[in-house]
Amino acid sequence: MLDHTVPSRIYLSAPHMSGNEQVYIEEAFRTNWVAPLGPNLDAFEQECAAHVGARGAVALSSGTAALHIALSLLEIGSGDRVFCSALTFVASANPIVYTGAEPVFIDSEPQTWNMSPDALQDAFSAAEAEGRLPKAVVVVHLYGQSARMDEIMEICNRYEVPVIEDAAESLGSSYKGRASGTMGAFGFYSFNGNKIITTSGGGMLVSDNLRALEKARFLAQQSRDPALHYQHSQLGYNYRMSNILAGIGRAQLQVLEERVIARRQVYERYRLLLEDIQGLHWMPELKQTATNRWLTALTVDPSKTGLTPTSIIAALTEANVESRPVWKPLHLQPLFRGCRFHAHRPNYSVSEELFRTGLCLPSGSNLTLDDQIRVTDRIRSLVTQEFSIELA
Ligand SMILES: *Cc1c(COP(=O)(O)O)cnc(C)c1O
Repeated sequence: MLDHTVPSRIYLSAPHMSGNEQVYIEEAFRTNWVAPLGPNLDAFEQECAAHVGARGAVALSSGTAALHIALSLLEIGSGDRVFCSALTFVASANPIVYTGAEPVFIDSEPQTWNMSPDALQDAFSAAEAEGRLPKAVVVVHLYGQSARMDEIMEICNRYEVPVIEDAAESLGSSYKGRASGTMGAFGFYSFNGNKIITTSGGGMLVSDNLRALEKARFLAQQSRDPALHYQHSQLGYNYRMSNILAGIGRAQLQVLEERVIARRQVYERYRLLLEDIQGLHWMPELKQTATNRWLTALTVDPSKTGLTPTSIIAALTEANVESRPVWKPLHLQPLFRGCRFHAHRPNYSVSEELFRTGLCLPSGSNLTLDDQIRVTDRIRSLVTQEFSIELA
């Protein structure tokens, strides 16, 4: 029997179809392009590159695969080092390990929550002293907010080390007028089910280097030499996106701008609905950048609210609402035990503090105002409980 006392589940970031996806899927079925290549794939790559202002794009099976290919294009392998943002999802670093290279984690800074240029410089100085510079730097744009790209690019250019932008969460965001993901040697987006637009699963590698992208297509299709018989001189992967999923992507890309507006509205509404509660600090937006606010993220000051991220998440779970702590920094993950880490300041890690105090609220572009009020009412009731004890 249905229990009507349990309110429907509110997800952190649910897929949001436009309705047009079926048109492209049906076209693929009608023409029997049920394959990993085809017209939707070519068109999706071109449309995506045009949208972000990159010279080219290669559609792949995931963002993780896109990063693996980018690292392979830079010929990174065993014995190499790669610098990577510490405050991120594990997929920003796993492909570094696939290649046999060693990840070195770089702390966040307070204004963007992203890679600290100071920590990056510290890591470069230490690596230079050892005579072991990294072969690449993976910079993440967390929750849609751009990292400080001018400062980061200046440092990396000085050491002549290429930058790969992990823009999995920041499609539709910009930094000083440039699309997130188009400032480094390579950038990639994710179309996983929870991202701002989705193909149910998929990724896109972008670059201005068309020769490198041609090589990416080769590597992602098992590195088949141009011979009639199957001949391979090099290790390859099976990483291409299917023509069906690319059809979903084409329809999703058409509504990307609407999705960004909707997510930014979700953030604005949370801010207004919780305005009067002291001790909540919203993830900042750096001047001259526009974040897609993929997730609304905030930190909670326990001394002012009487709350912690854990207590809020527990209360929301009880109300059938999904919320999450901020990503656990990768240098704290058991998987990466023993890896090097460079903090923002000696003995002060910004990413660790954000992990202790940060939380992400449900932020889907299809979230209704009623859903949001359900979330904020629950948080509000917690604060009232805390302080009624004091008042009594
Ligand atoms: C989602 C995500 C990825 C991985 O993308 P997939 O398409 O799921 O492989 C990488 N980095 C970040 C920061 C992500 O959020």
